[in-house]
Amino acid sequence: MEKLQLRDLIVPGAKDDDYISDVAQTKRALELWTMEPGFQVAFLAAPEEALAAHGLSIDAQSLRILVCKEEAEEYRNFLPEELPQTAGRYRGFIREKFRQRERMVRSDCVPSQPAFRAWRTRQLNRCWAELGRKNGAMIHAPLMFELNLGCSVGCPFCGIAAGKLQTVCRYDEENRTLWRGILSYMKEFMGSAAGSGTCYYATEPLDNPDYEKFVRDYFEILGMVPQITTAVSMRNPARTKALLEELHRMEPAIHRFSVLSLDILHRIHRYFTPEELLYVELLPQFPEAPFCRFSNTGRAHEMGEGQADYDGDTISCISGFVVNLAERSVRLQTPCAASAAHPTGEYFVARERFSDLEDFKRVVAQITETFLKAELPKDKPVRLRPGIEYGMTEEGISFCSRKRYQLKFSGSDDIHPDIYQRVLTAIQTGGSPREIAVALLEEDISPAYTFFILQKFELAGLFLEEYE
Ligand code: SF4
Repeated sequence: MEKLQLRDLIVPGAKDDDYISDVAQTKRALELWTMEPGFQVAFLAAPEEALAAHGLSIDAQSLRILVCKEEAEEYRNFLPEELPQTAGRYRGFIREKFRQRERMVRSDCVPSQPAFRAWRTRQLNRCWAELGRKNGAMIHAPLMFELNLGCSVGCPFCGIAAGKLQTVCRYDEENRTLWRGILSYMKEFMGSAAGSGTCYYATEPLDNPDYEKFVRDYFEILGMVPQITTAVSMRNPARTKALLEELHRMEPAIHRFSVLSLDILHRIHRYFTPEELLYVELLPQFPEAPFCRFSNTGRAHEMGEGQADYDGDTISCISGFVVNLAERSVRLQTPCAASAAHPTGEYFVARERFSDLEDFKRVVAQITETFLKAELPKDKPVRLRPGIEYGMTEEGISFCSRKRYQLKFSGSDDIHPDIYQRVLTAIQTGGSPREIAVALLEEDISPAYTFFILQKFELAGLFLEEYE
């Protein structure tokens, strides 16, 4: 079979109307499959009729490949280019999204400031052991902004347990000057990664009547569009639509609507065409939706009576600074497995208030100096992170956790596996890197090897940070 010609869609000037419509309609059919009770039964009984009832004219067999176990299995090892046209185009779009996310993790979100970069890498690596595969979906953004304090929506499942809306930061002259100053300073501080985050976190972006004005400055100064997730897309649909169009003109990107009820899903589908929602993921967050799943953190954990175990979940995806403009505060935080000690799956490293731009710079510098270490301190005890098991192997060492994480360190011609093992044994004495190196020198192991191995372990997130 001739291979499909696939094209990227999350790029400026993507214009092939038939192609876009094919992907957008497939996306809508999948939204029905995952959220509309009864659609699955109707589709399986009479595919074309079920699609037509929602104004969709895509190839039903392609949809079966995307949703039905049997067909999916048949085409499991096919590249998107090798699938029937509609299925292939949709899978190509998903592949493009994955590539973008990977680029965010590996490049766009990486701060240029050395100590911050090293800390973020350690957190990202730590999360593989703590969160398992879920970590693959997390970008570990280095900087996010909140333009409000609290959230008006009050979702009963809120994974970060956002408090009630208390205040919003209006775009007046004083706040505008502060905002632009903060954006410029953070760009100077961490480079282009400053633009890889969002203008919401534990907030609803559209609670702020001036959200659009803040975002224009963000784009002008940082050169990127902040991704938006809103739970109130239909509060003022004309505003939502205009905002999406404006964001798309700045730079094509993927945004999200949280769908809080079946009625809201119907209203969204009536108001927006499939093509208008091509770049907007709809997240099923109401119990009747066949694919609704709440992360077991924050209020969702409290909701689920009898869910004694947290399962190590989180919805947080920032390893960096959250700047709240309404409260004038800065926090440094990173995801962690939710637990009684960290019920929202967030580890708060620092939280400080600031009064003006100069004070903001002072706070960021102080947090950086205190908590973000570029290198393993040579004189502080090294402590292996609990929850990670290790064992000696023929090649060297293997670490694993209950999240199906496994990390192996293998010896080479230069460093024999035995040296890895002896460094690991020495760590358990609780000494500092310098003390470990001195002890191992007596066994004829060069300190250069010892420090090299300790740094590898540290970068892998295997050691507790000083503040933990
Ligand atoms: S999930 Fe989002 S919209 Fe809902 S309460 Fe939490 S922050 Fe607000």
